[in-house]
Amino acid sequence: MPKAGSASFNFVAKFISLRSINLDKNGMKIKKNDTVLIIAGKDKGKKGKVLKSLPKENKIIVEGLNLAKKHQKPRRSGEKGQVVEVSRPLSVSNVKLICPKCGQGTRVGYKTTETDKFRICKKCQSEI
Ligand SMILES: [Zn+2]
Repeated sequence: MPKAGSASFNFVAKFISLRSINLDKNGMKIKKNDTVLIIAGKDKGKKGKVLKSLPKENKIIVEGLNLAKKHQKPRRSGEKGQVVEVSRPLSVSNVKLICPKCGQGTRVGYKTTETDKFRICKKCQSEI
């Protein structure tokens, strides 16, 4: 590939990936520090705090939920391997946001003004 051509290609690729990250961020209805209710899977009915959102995969990591055992190899010789429990990402479609205002599991709506975009609770209509 010619040098000049690949440089401009890289620039375009960078631009596109930045744009899509921004779009994903806006499209993610569940954010870090939200409290969610699990509505499907083995932790159904449990509540937890969102530690991390993974917009690219449309997944979130919820504190203490969706645990999976992970075998940790010994780091030094003579040390024993351990089994640790880690929270695995789960799909946002398997959770409902718990509205901090009305305390109910709800769907998230959006309200837009000229300058801003808010999330609103579909049940009590308050800004969240
Ligand atoms: Zn509400």
